[in-house]
Amino acid sequence: MADSILIINAGSSSLKFSLYQDNDGNTFTSVASGLLEGIGTKPYLKIVDQHKKVLIEKNWEDPKLAQLDARDTLCGETLEWIFNYSKKDPIVAVGHRVVHGGSKYVNPVLIDEVVYQDLEALTPFVPLHQPASLSPMRVMLHNNPGIPQIACFDTAFHATMPDKAKRFALPRRYFDKGVRRYGFHGLSYQYIVHYLKQTDHVLASGKTIIAHLGNGASVSAVYQGKCVDTSMSFTPLDGLVMGTRTGHIDAALILYMLNEEKMSPDEIETLIWKKSGLLGVSEVSSDMRDVEAEIANNGPKAEFCQQALELFKYALVGEIGRLAAGMGGIDGLIFTAGIGENARELRSEICKSLSWLGIKIDEEANRSKKELISMPNSTVIVKTIPTNEESVMLREVHDLIN
Ligand code: AMP
Repeated sequence: MADSILIINAGSSSLKFSLYQDNDGNTFTSVASGLLEGIGTKPYLKIVDQHKKVLIEKNWEDPKLAQLDARDTLCGETLEWIFNYSKKDPIVAVGHRVVHGGSKYVNPVLIDEVVYQDLEALTPFVPLHQPASLSPMRVMLHNNPGIPQIACFDTAFHATMPDKAKRFALPRRYFDKGVRRYGFHGLSYQYIVHYLKQTDHVLASGKTIIAHLGNGASVSAVYQGKCVDTSMSFTPLDGLVMGTRTGHIDAALILYMLNEEKMSPDEIETLIWKKSGLLGVSEVSSDMRDVEAEIANNGPKAEFCQQALELFKYALVGEIGRLAAGMGGIDGLIFTAGIGENARELRSEICKSLSWLGIKIDEEANRSKKELISMPNSTVIVKTIPTNEESVMLREVHDLIN
């Protein structure tokens, strides 16, 4: 019999989770992982063991469960299955990835009713993300109140940003009530910083820009392991062009949509979060692989895809430039997450666009998926490092319950 820890990563329409067995209080083995997806449309659950053997696969046919408000029921059934599966190696704690901790929560925290209410109060800040994290917490508080639940925050890493990087140029009362730049993807950045501390003293103690380029994408400026600025701000909409999100746009555009196009707030919300970015411009897909494939195959939307890709790269180069200027130059640039780890051609082009910073890419190392992808005479060290947000959460949960 061993202790187990469940790590939950809730998205707006999905619930990803991994079950870890505690080997010796220091190392963990992933024994099962799963995905509940299609929440609000066509719910589907699949859980596999560490050898990828399917443990359960399930569709819910009841139309009542195809509604967003069935989230708690689906989460409840899923959690009950996992707890039963792990009966012999009891789950002693559950870690939740929480997108927004506001200005109050900068460390992982044990969830109780008060914390739950605080996090619920942040829902207007991230209306698509926060309800997703709250659902499994609520279910656990109701069904398994004795099991510690720990919230790990994506905003926490950015708490060290100075006032000038946190503040919008709005009347002061906005900042005072929490309307400010927060930054996200913190668990991923934390992992990279932790990894650098173990493997690269120059970058761990120097000025490093980390580019987390996934479906959601952001870049952060890190000095001596601490965040000093980042591209996302009040919500994870700001900054870079993303799969379906606009990234930075002129705020007055929203007024134009409201007043001239007579769009409702809900329609605008859907447009800027779910229908823009690579998807909106390419009219093909939010997935970088599809966008690249359409260009390579010279498909009917190749020109749109090329424009979407150029926009993505231009925003990225611009934001890296802004962060580098803010730090007065950089020692390192790290690529991570789906696009950062896999899109070699894109990495190469970004590095070439940044040659004015002294970056010289080693094309062969970049092609062959090496960690170090800059030339020895590059003034900036460039690396590709796979991220691992779950390992950060696992460590935080384990440390907190011990
Ligand atoms: P993530 O959110 O970190 O899972 O990243 C998802 C993004 O990574 C999607 O846009 C994928 O298209 C992109 N991605 C994954 N593999 C590749 C690849 N080989 N080339 C380009 N993009 C990729």
